[in-house]
Amino acid sequence: MERERLDAEAVIVGAGPAGLACALHLARLVAEHNAQGRMPAIDPEGIFVLEKGAELGMHSLSGAVMDPRALAELEPDYLAQGAPLEAPVSEDHLFHLSASGSRRLPVIPAALRNEGNHIISLGRLVQWLGGRAEAAGVNLFPGTAAAGLVLEEGRVCGVITDDKGLDKAGEPQANFEPGYELRAKVTVCAEGARGSLAGQLIREFQLDAGSNPQAYGLGLKEVWDIPAGRVKAGTVWHSFGHPLPGDMQGGGWMYALSETRVSLGLVVGLHYSDPGFQPHTALQRYKQHPLLAGLLDGGTLVRYGAKTLAKGGYWALPRLSAPGALLVGDSAGFLDGMRLKGVHMAIKSGMLAAEAAYAALGAADPAAADRALAGYRERFEASWMKADLWRGRNYHQAFQHGVSRGLLPSLVQGLRARQGNRPAHAYLRPGGSAPAPFVADGKLAQDRLTSVYHSGTGHREDQPIHLKVESDTLCLQCNSEFGSPCQHFCPAGVYEWAADGGGAGRLRINAANCLHCKTCDIMDPYQNIAWTPPEGGGGPQYEGM
Ligand code: SF4
Repeated sequence: MERERLDAEAVIVGAGPAGLACALHLARLVAEHNAQGRMPAIDPEGIFVLEKGAELGMHSLSGAVMDPRALAELEPDYLAQGAPLEAPVSEDHLFHLSASGSRRLPVIPAALRNEGNHIISLGRLVQWLGGRAEAAGVNLFPGTAAAGLVLEEGRVCGVITDDKGLDKAGEPQANFEPGYELRAKVTVCAEGARGSLAGQLIREFQLDAGSNPQAYGLGLKEVWDIPAGRVKAGTVWHSFGHPLPGDMQGGGWMYALSETRVSLGLVVGLHYSDPGFQPHTALQRYKQHPLLAGLLDGGTLVRYGAKTLAKGGYWALPRLSAPGALLVGDSAGFLDGMRLKGVHMAIKSGMLAAEAAYAALGAADPAAADRALAGYRERFEASWMKADLWRGRNYHQAFQHGVSRGLLPSLVQGLRARQGNRPAHAYLRPGGSAPAPFVADGKLAQDRLTSVYHSGTGHREDQPIHLKVESDTLCLQCNSEFGSPCQHFCPAGVYEWAADGGGAGRLRINAANCLHCKTCDIMDPYQNIAWTPPEGGGGPQYEGM
């Protein structure tokens, strides 16, 4: 296909905190470089950021309590500049929940304390960072997905952007617009956890050789408006126990953005064994617990969403660069699982990548540029990020068989030699339980379709399906062996096993409801489902998440 070619200095795929911090820091380094008359001059308008969401922040979702350390390095006057921090943390509580009771722990482990941190909406922070980046000369392209890497002679030379206006069969419609060949000296993958471009990069250059398989959690989040007088702005609750069984890892949260608006949710470690487990149902049960129910009663559900996070830690980090390309944020696995925090690491990794990219843009030839990009690893190893990740290097592995069996090993994880883990899907065991009966009451607890409605998600219906099932035969095998766990783990109910005219059945896929969480790509037992980017502009509308 004939594609128009555009040339850039750097293309950054994903306008999350990592991608925008990278773009902003790089733009400032380039401006200083040019102002000082250094050679070669670098095109100040040559930094491009692609974002598949219709607007900045629409695909951003996190709890979130942010450690402001990295933001202060990127924007030392972030408070004076109006960074949208909802509330400083005012109270910090940790609970153990049984099915109907709760016990507040008298002491919170140091890693979970939040003095000096801020409750934020990641989407609002991303929109603010986008405005700062644009003011610094960065070109932002919302509604544009990256469909693949441009590879030439063993180097990454940019990306192909998405074709727009294809029908279900992949044929051009009247409004067809082919994607661009966007050539760049440096390509940065900042797509979040399990990025499709990052996956291509890692496979192509075997960046994960020698690393632990990346481990994931699935975060399901809701925002509620509640009556005033029940909680103080800045209150942080974390909990473990109910609704997750002891052989699973994960826990709940509630953060008070204000006296009348709270964020709540559940993170489920995606290394559970029961293929019948339904994370969405677990979230509904969490809200029905008396601790949450008393807070939410009479309130209004504002938004729902779900996203995976990469929590394998230090030993799961891949090599961070390839010829012509870098990995940042969750795409690299930069998340401090012990502290339940990733936004600060995303910003810091973006800044370190920007410094390596800047060095590469000034290099005399491609080989020197690639050496400069490889220097990103050294920058990481010399930073506080390395020290923080090293402190919890075996933390995820301690909990890979659940909270009950993980508490003691987690206390000594830092004294142990490198611990391994399996890929997420390999923990599923054949058979599994029938999903526990559950009735949504429509007040505290919703069914999946109602939840999807509150995510605002939507895709143009007449386009090629972006959830690629490679083999129908494997699908049937998965149904008879595991009962098609995709029906259960998908937080949007996209997959459904349909009886098919007396045959064994078939998988029905309602791709329009997809939340882009990537759980299916991670958890399918046969790795038979590939999540690929749909046409840019589709997906969730995570206003205020
Ligand atoms: Fe997540 Fe896959 Fe379901 Fe989309 S289809 S919401 S990526 S599990």
